[in-house]
Amino acid sequence: MHDTSALQELLAQPRQIFITTHHKPDADALGSSLGMAGYLRKKGHHVTVVTPSDYPDFLAWMPGNEEVIVYEPDQNDAQVRDLISRAEVLFCLDFSCLGRISELGEYIRAASGTKVLIDHHQEPEQFADLDFSNAKAAATAELVFEVIRDMGDQALIDKGIGECLYAGIMTDTGSFRHPSTSRNVHLIIAELLNADIDLSAVHRRIYDSHSEMRLRFLGFVLKDKLTVLREYNTAYIAITQDELRQYQSKTGDTEGLVNFALSIEGVVFAAILIDRGNAVKISFRSVGDFSVSDFSRRHFQGGGHHNAAGGISYEPLDTTVQRFLDLLPHYQTQLVTSPLAVAQP
Ligand code: 5GP
Ligand code: MN
Repeated sequence: MHDTSALQELLAQPRQIFITTHHKPDADALGSSLGMAGYLRKKGHHVTVVTPSDYPDFLAWMPGNEEVIVYEPDQNDAQVRDLISRAEVLFCLDFSCLGRISELGEYIRAASGTKVLIDHHQEPEQFADLDFSNAKAAATAELVFEVIRDMGDQALIDKGIGECLYAGIMTDTGSFRHPSTSRNVHLIIAELLNADIDLSAVHRRIYDSHSEMRLRFLGFVLKDKLTVLREYNTAYIAITQDELRQYQSKTGDTEGLVNFALSIEGVVFAAILIDRGNAVKISFRSVGDFSVSDFSRRHFQGGGHHNAAGGISYEPLDTTVQRFLDLLPHYQTQLVTSPLAVAQP
């Protein structure tokens, strides 16, 4: 049970509420935000959801999507600043430090409203007045469900809110296969089913709604761009801007690619390095003991979770890949002794 008394008191009268989440929102980030927004609107609050950047089309089905404001520094900075300064309550969902949401972070830091953090990343920054972080939770959407339930409002979770939360839990647990998939997670899904959510519709909208180009891009990446380093039980993919352009890559098209690298037998550490022009964005995944959040924090200004993390590099792609490769010998012992690194027959 979460202690929701302070939040309950805060929300006892209609409030101006601002909700935001991390850069390039994924299903957990957007699902948590829109699930929470749907709930708070039902309670009579005035809610605005602002994302620090755009997000994939396969999330656009979520109820409340039409009202999301995508922050564009050159276009709506004044409007968003105004919303932040007028908000009485600011919900920060699915990110742990204000530095990760560009200019918005500093605006929120300076805001006078009550800041509420609901998140499941490691090492949360202490900036919130009310903090519902728990690094053991599988998804922020799991915590959002619990907070609503512990406020005594589970009955307000309808199909739309439920499907937003389900999408977050489904994707962050890798469709219920990561070790974070606890009994609690399954119990929550059972409760969401009571709200009549359509599980297979959510799966289809998220996983089976890609463009033809995206599938061809996947084929190209797997055939030509994947490198397997058996001596380190590691596999990685590096993608240039030209390649993204050639396949008309859109936001979200590279999501999940890194998991293919991790699906190879014996591979316990996988990375994808993508040249986004202004920086190289990196996603790390692992199975077992190897902590990619530590690796990413130490070497690539990043962080995240034990088995799923991300980071950034401002060097060119080639240099970044070389730096990544040069680091591997330092981790070789850890990588080759992993009990999950099954030896090839
Ligand atoms: P993804 O690889 O899917 O972008 O991110 C994996 C996890 O790492 C997510 O939980 C994400 O929030 C976190 N993450 C991704 N990039 C960064 C980063 O640059 N800094 C930090 N602190 N976390 C990140
Ligand atoms: Mn998450």
